[in-house]
Amino acid sequence: MKIVIVGGGVLGASTAFQLAKRGCEVELFESGMPGGQASAASLAWLNSNSKELRPYHDLNVISMAEHLAVARELGTDNWLRRGGNLEVAATEESAHALHAKAKRLHEYGYAAIELDPKDLPRYDPQVRVHEDYLGAVFYPGESWLDLPLLIHELLRAAVAHGAILRSHTTVDRLLVESGQVNGVLLDDGSQVRADRVVVAAGSRIGALMSEVGVEVSTVGEPGATVVTAPGTSALSVLLHLPGISVRPDPGGRLAIRSERGDRSLDTDTWTLPDETVTDLIRRAAHGVADVDPTSTRSERISIAVRPYPFDGLPVVGFWNDVPNLYLITMHSGATLAAVTSRLAAEELVTGIPPALLNGFRPARLITPRRELPEFDPHAVEAEV
Ligand SMILES: Cc1cc2nc3c(=O)[nH]c(=O)nc-3n(C[C@H](O)[C@H](O)[C@H](O)COP(=O)(O)OP(=O)(O)OC[C@H]3O[C@@H](n4cnc5c(N)ncnc54)[C@H](O)[C@@H]3O)c2cc1C
Repeated sequence: MKIVIVGGGVLGASTAFQLAKRGCEVELFESGMPGGQASAASLAWLNSNSKELRPYHDLNVISMAEHLAVARELGTDNWLRRGGNLEVAATEESAHALHAKAKRLHEYGYAAIELDPKDLPRYDPQVRVHEDYLGAVFYPGESWLDLPLLIHELLRAAVAHGAILRSHTTVDRLLVESGQVNGVLLDDGSQVRADRVVVAAGSRIGALMSEVGVEVSTVGEPGATVVTAPGTSALSVLLHLPGISVRPDPGGRLAIRSERGDRSLDTDTWTLPDETVTDLIRRAAHGVADVDPTSTRSERISIAVRPYPFDGLPVVGFWNDVPNLYLITMHSGATLAAVTSRLAAEELVTGIPPALLNGFRPARLITPRRELPEFDPHAVEAEV
């Protein structure tokens, strides 16, 4: 079976790997370099921390575990950075909310250890304790992904199974004949025929779908992550501190981001103001002992639109009225890539709908329940 995949982010790369190892003839098209859009800006925190809807929480938990299976199959796990996550509250209100969340997570059977903030350095000696810290929780099962490395490993393995990777090649539109998708038209005017087309194009899914007469938007809020120069810190744990998220990045770098930083993005020039970068580094230094705010510099700032549909939940499945066309997009794609790509590949190959995907199907995009409050990605990113 020949399958074309549009998009080489974490979801396209994972799906390519899952399909290629099942013996499918896979060809993946990526406009730029793989992993250069949302997957580049991601904090890549592997978690089911603030995902209250039970089936959604469970899907995230399953995927956290399935990353271990992916590591085993790839024969490498240096992209999977275990070490847990510490979350700190510094107001009465946020301490109360943190306690309530830990209680809910216990009921869900998810590890969340409440601790006295003065014990924070026991989890990582680089974590500073401040007087205004009122509550803290350690989540030992959470981790983060070195997403560029994971995408590289997934594509390397897919190619080893015979997949063809075509970077710097844009799919201009889907080829629709007699109501079904038979392939794609490339920006050089050539056509590539396929039995199935998987659209994993992140925030650009809407543009491709308009070609089949469907109005969908997967353009969510933009976000920015600042990565510091090598040797910034020996931090080993992921941190959600008041007003900032910080995690280690390879080479002693830190990845730093915040909701406030996102709100300061200049969306005309697609830049993050210098003051915001300085503020992010200053806040990281406030929380992490070995960060010197005067000498720490940003090495890279990644800015991207978060892809997600109106309700923020995953969309995985065949498009309702167009045979052969398969969609895969979601927020929390770093966490969810392992399970959703495996389920997508099984369905693409066998045609059997996986029960785990009930509630996360494309059908709901046709009649969006607009009365739902708008999805706020920061709520599941645990940023205050
Ligand atoms: C700031 C930020 C923080 C985040 N934090 C987390 C987190 O902590 N944990 C978590 O689990 N998730 C997080 N996410 C979400 C997660 O990163 C995304 O869900 C995931 O990266 C989406 O992957 P994707 O492959 O769908 O999209 P992308 O990575 O955007 O990949 C889509 C690819 O398709 C390509 N493409 C598009 N159109 C075409 C075309 N016509 N032809 C060829 N190629 C095309 C693009 O170039 C792109 O490379 C975060 C996202 C952001 C932006």
